[in-house]
Amino acid sequence: MFEKILVANRGEIALRVIRAAREMGIQTVAVHSTADSDAMHVRMADESVCIGPPPGIDSYLSIPSIIAACEITGAQAIHPGYGFLSENANFVQIVEDHDLTFIGPTAKHIQVMGDKITAKDTMKELGVPCVPGSEGGVPDLESARALCEDIGYPVIVKATAGGGGRGMKVAETAADIDTAFRTARSEAKAAFGNDEVYIEKYLTTPRHIEIQVFGDGKGKAVHLGERDCSLQRRHQKVFEEAPGPCISAEERAKIGKVCADAVAKIDYAGAGTIEFLYEKGEFYFIEMNTRLQVEHPVTEAIFGVDLVREQIRVAAGLPMSFSQENLDINGHAIEVRINAEKLPEFAPRPGRISQFHAPGGLGVRMDSALYDGYSIPPYYDSLIAKLIVHGPDRASALARLDRALGELIVDGVETTVPLFHALLQEEDILSGDYNIHWLEHWLETNLRDG
Ligand code: ADP
Repeated sequence: MFEKILVANRGEIALRVIRAAREMGIQTVAVHSTADSDAMHVRMADESVCIGPPPGIDSYLSIPSIIAACEITGAQAIHPGYGFLSENANFVQIVEDHDLTFIGPTAKHIQVMGDKITAKDTMKELGVPCVPGSEGGVPDLESARALCEDIGYPVIVKATAGGGGRGMKVAETAADIDTAFRTARSEAKAAFGNDEVYIEKYLTTPRHIEIQVFGDGKGKAVHLGERDCSLQRRHQKVFEEAPGPCISAEERAKIGKVCADAVAKIDYAGAGTIEFLYEKGEFYFIEMNTRLQVEHPVTEAIFGVDLVREQIRVAAGLPMSFSQENLDINGHAIEVRINAEKLPEFAPRPGRISQFHAPGGLGVRMDSALYDGYSIPPYYDSLIAKLIVHGPDRASALARLDRALGELIVDGVETTVPLFHALLQEEDILSGDYNIHWLEHWLETNLRDG
């Protein structure tokens, strides 16, 4: 096992990794920008190294600084968290070239899944159901028009290098395809430096259902059920739950096995998430994330596992500590993402936290790097806390969420907490009857005027 690992991230996810490492008796090294000298992850780690000025590009994304920090401190492995360098195949290669261990999948797997066309082709070959659409990239408008006549409108034009919901355009009818195709291409070129696009049938009322998988890198893999992350704003998840309110045990076992078999076949190592749109009982693959997800705690809650511990074990060459037969679901879990943002426009509101009180009690987990007097720097993501609740069933998890939100105090900055209080009054949320468009529609009618 490693003696010391470096955590190449900040905020709550850095704490998450430091906590797992400490429980395993592993020393931790935090890295930080000059804006984060007083951050909680720096305080909590055994050692810390300043790796650059505030902008992410000069610090948390600076590969030479991170490698140098490993060399200075003698860290043997790097956990990337999510975001930043977590899905950067080039980084993984450099880490390996320096005889360090990347806690995650191989550079090759990251590369294959990072290109959406290759990812879709690979998944299709592995027997994973995909959204009907083009075979690979669509080279020109003429081919786009012909293809869309075949698959039928509405369609969505997507960038193969896409991410974060950018480079996607919907064409409702044949009249829209020229504009959708051209705009998707130019947005893709501007955002990712690659204008290759592909086309898919646009599903009108799907849910976002993702399957957590975990592989040992040696041909063995399991699935840990699904998470429903349909409540999204601008393709960003805000509320996630597991199990999915609309997924039956049979459906879970079936799609779960397809996913576990697929990643086993490619010798995938570590945690991964296979994302699907789910409509009328069918699953359609959209992408695979080759890292730990923000919403992983809901899976940990219902399966009683520690995914970060497992990532570290597998990276150190140990076998997985669970097998499919001993993974059973216990109850229901919900996570809400609390951002330092002003409603209704969700405008980032960094600032000083004058008072912070985290909720507690049975079935409540708060993953947050906040503390009294902490100043949220303006340079990074506005996520400041994840509140995760777990109960024997969905109704008790919802009641617990309501109770825990009531205990939470974050003074000094505006947050998205009022959104969750409001959502808990909605019949559709209480009954679990929502799809990927529900929140956008609800925000338009409910939050516009405060
Ligand atoms: P990104 O990597 O940019 O997040 P995804 O491929 O994961 O892109 O898609 C993000 C979101 O866009 C999905 O969660 C869904 O809301 C919407 N979306 C993507 N493909 C389709 C589709 N074929 N039909 C309907 N909605 C889609």
